[in-house]
Amino acid sequence: MIVTRFAPSPTGRLHLGHAYSAIRAHDLARSGGGQFLLRIEDIDGTRSRTEHVETIMADLAWLGLAWDGPVVFQSARLALYQGALDRLREERLLFPCFCTRAEIAEAMSAPHGPANVYPGTCRGVDAAARMNEPHCWRLDMAAAVARTGTLDWTDRGETIVAVPEQQGDVVLARKDAPASYHLAVTIDDAAQGVTDVVRGRDLFEATHIHRLLQALLDLPTPRYHHHDLLTGPDGERLAKRHGAPTLAALRESGMDGLALADDLRRGQLPNGAFHT
Ligand code: GLU
Repeated sequence: MIVTRFAPSPTGRLHLGHAYSAIRAHDLARSGGGQFLLRIEDIDGTRSRTEHVETIMADLAWLGLAWDGPVVFQSARLALYQGALDRLREERLLFPCFCTRAEIAEAMSAPHGPANVYPGTCRGVDAAARMNEPHCWRLDMAAAVARTGTLDWTDRGETIVAVPEQQGDVVLARKDAPASYHLAVTIDDAAQGVTDVVRGRDLFEATHIHRLLQALLDLPTPRYHHHDLLTGPDGERLAKRHGAPTLAALRESGMDGLALADDLRRGQLPNGAFHT
């Protein structure tokens, strides 16, 4: 059975791009008699808001997208992420990192510094005496890749070879949050039995990391469907700078949500839904 999910972060209002993604995930599940799940990605306690959760649910209902089963909140699943972190730490695949953003930026701007990835400052330092200082936990990418060998995944039917090493020692537990997006999303997709991840192309690069984490944590790999992002009439990505209204604003203006969803299914943006 196909199981898909929509996994918004309740840090703001949803816009048309979110609606498009939710519709694609919903319709894939419904076309095969499968399940469509709703997961609220609220591990970032400082930016997540309950009011946004309520708005997300109202938006989905307005679009005619009913989800199956209870809504899953990542903030209620921290013990699960902790267990995975403990395992990776015991396997010596994590190291604590005490660097500030400024220190990382400085190291990366050195003439022969690494391009756009963490420069490895804290890898291999003796951290035992510093554990009371604020720190995040990073994956030791070289060790992780050596452990798993070559990995791939299926994306819209095509085989993609994972190259997570390009992203360096990614953060798996943040200084200010108990898990990173990468860790939580990978664990939850597996725990919820998601067979098909439908999401925008902006998350394609993250999948290299998710595939690696699946291998390290013995989790199954779903099929992925990274879809193109909605673009405005100028061909540019629909984002706030185009003046795209939120779904809540469209709903409150009296627009018919079911008709909007059908427009989006046909790749059409509703008239007057945005201005450039
Ligand atoms: N929570 C993520 C976001 O709102 C999406 C996660 C995912 O689909 O993997 O951007």
